[in-house]
Amino acid sequence: RPSGVQHDHANDSKLLDFLNEIQADNIRQYLRKFTQLPHLAGTEQNLKLAKEIANEWEKFGLDSVELVSYDVLLSYPKPEQPNYISILNQFGNEIFNTSLTEPVPEGYEGVSDIVPPYNAFSAKGQPEGELVYVNYGRTEDFFQLERDMGINCSGKIVIARYGKIFRGNKVKNAILAGAKGIILFSDPADYCAPGVDVYPSGWNLPGRGAQRGNVLNLNGAGDPLTPGYPAKEYTYRAEQDEGVGLPKIPVHPIGYSDAVHLLTLMCKRTSISAPHRIVRMNIYTSNQVTRIYNVIGRIRGAVEPDRYVILGGHRDAWVFGGIDPTSGVAVVHEIARSVGTLVKKGWKPRRTLVFASWDAEEFGLLGSTEWAEENAKILQERAVAYINADSSIEGMYTLRVDCTPSLHTLVYDITKKISSPEPGEETMTLYDSWHKRDNWTNERNAPRISKLGSGSDFEAYFIRLGIAAGRARYTKNTKTERYSSYPVYHSVYETFELVERFYDPSFRRLQAVARVRAGLIFQLSDSQLLPLDCVEYGAALHKYTLNIEAIANRHPDAISRYNVSFDSLLNAVKNFTSAAQAFHQRLNELDRYNPLEMRMVNDQLMHLERAFIDPLGLPGRPFYRHIIFAPSIHNKYAGESFPGIYDALFDIENAPEQDKAWDEVRRQISIATFTVQAAAMVLMPLA
Ligand code: GLU
Ligand code: CA
Ligand code: ZN
Ligand code: ZN
Repeated sequence: RPSGVQHDHANDSKLLDFLNEIQADNIRQYLRKFTQLPHLAGTEQNLKLAKEIANEWEKFGLDSVELVSYDVLLSYPKPEQPNYISILNQFGNEIFNTSLTEPVPEGYEGVSDIVPPYNAFSAKGQPEGELVYVNYGRTEDFFQLERDMGINCSGKIVIARYGKIFRGNKVKNAILAGAKGIILFSDPADYCAPGVDVYPSGWNLPGRGAQRGNVLNLNGAGDPLTPGYPAKEYTYRAEQDEGVGLPKIPVHPIGYSDAVHLLTLMCKRTSISAPHRIVRMNIYTSNQVTRIYNVIGRIRGAVEPDRYVILGGHRDAWVFGGIDPTSGVAVVHEIARSVGTLVKKGWKPRRTLVFASWDAEEFGLLGSTEWAEENAKILQERAVAYINADSSIEGMYTLRVDCTPSLHTLVYDITKKISSPEPGEETMTLYDSWHKRDNWTNERNAPRISKLGSGSDFEAYFIRLGIAAGRARYTKNTKTERYSSYPVYHSVYETFELVERFYDPSFRRLQAVARVRAGLIFQLSDSQLLPLDCVEYGAALHKYTLNIEAIANRHPDAISRYNVSFDSLLNAVKNFTSAAQAFHQRLNELDRYNPLEMRMVNDQLMHLERAFIDPLGLPGRPFYRHIIFAPSIHNKYAGESFPGIYDALFDIENAPEQDKAWDEVRRQISIATFTVQAAAMVLMPLA
């Protein structure tokens, strides 16, 4: 009888066959083919690409492939009335205008339908006013302006540099500060690496390049007009001005060549006198209900067809999508082809594999969220894991993984079976190469794995539905800068050549990322025992509890005055850890030939992540329902642990009613306590 629960040696050689099938050169060819034209959501070209992908998935040998459409709110600039920003003279005449387009890279001059840089879902309008520079537009930047510097942004147009946080949070902060417009610019300090040329000689952002991107604050809602329900033809829609998360002020992005002119206006030394420092935004972008298409492919599980492992990534791009998302699309395509070769040789996964090509991710994770809404009832009963496959690379340094704690062990196991893509490391494993470059902490001698935040399509699966989830990509040396992405992000310069010339000439980094993603879905779909590690979850909960307790302890007087204690939560975490360890022990006595017994244990593992879902959601964020993880309210890209408690404690010293504020802290601690205890119960003996 087999023993040793963490490894499923039975399918080890199948796994290696599968990983070996994944070829760098195929990824190169797919990336080239899929980046020749723009694939903006809601356009003919992106529907064509959906059909092409669906066709090929069928040919690869998937059992079923379908296009699934939704009618969602998108946002486009008006071709006949372009957006721009002007500097006005004392007579109100425009003396400088920002550029309407980015210079198109060589070889792409004849391409039509390149959408100019804009911020999707900006309000329309022509606000005029003085400019205020707000740094990155973060919560702490506005605190500094308002509290320390006494600068009032109300009635002003603010100008923020891109980077550090999700742009939608910058816009929300500007609105709360009373701004009547916000300009977003790319600062070379954030979008040009030292010693690197601008594209096409290098991978830095050219002066006239600008970052597109949506500026919604959806908090997980999906389509702004149909929160909670799939945006089908029959679906009731809210009025367009009442959609979820739509900003009430104009927003527009510019490059640094244009930004210099606007920033110069604020210089004290400038010869222009005060009344002439007026800027006008001219924004005509409009919202449009538009049809979008997900591609859903399935390989039916041979033993447990009613258990799903999902590999999903978006297909829509702002322009060519050289990195975002097509370095992910090409990888998913090569994984689908490789699984297909196994299927054609007669192999079937134990559980059902679902491949998803999402639409309209760039407009607020819309395709993935609508599909999650439509399938919520069956996904919450049947989904085992969701692996995200957005951009496969954002730097040339090492692997980056964000995932739920129960996937840590699987990620380590898989990366030990993949070779390093780095030149000169041919005999090294990906694990060792990654470990060498990014050790977790002083306490933990292993490669770093981070919490999931948001800003990509795993959000609805993990944070709304409580499905174990993870993502992996190649990254830069992120010791300091974690959320500024890469220089030409969301610009017209994201081409095939960008990847081939600079990021991954051999395509071995993309191959390594493909193998990590492939290894994850292979083991999750084919291991007899689900490769989810509940003991790791216990360790993470313990760490998060100490962390949040330390934050609370910054207020020792209030803690004792209002009787705030983390004892109940620490106790629940202790119970969880004991339950997890005992569960782990019992796995050794498991009768692997007893299918019912296996199924019972696997269901406990599957339901573990689900147990962290609170049906009431977090305060004011009904679609963020995970009590352990949520996107930070200050930065959608970042994950916050125990978000309910964290938010209750944030800036609490400035709360007007201290007793009420601390009451909410105590309420949030009790919700966390209950949730951790309830999750522990999932792991306890069944009867
Ligand atoms: N990934 C896209 C972006 O960062 C969309 C993120 C989102 O809407 O959450 O712009
Ligand atoms: Ca919806
Ligand atoms: Zn993107
Ligand atoms: Zn993307």
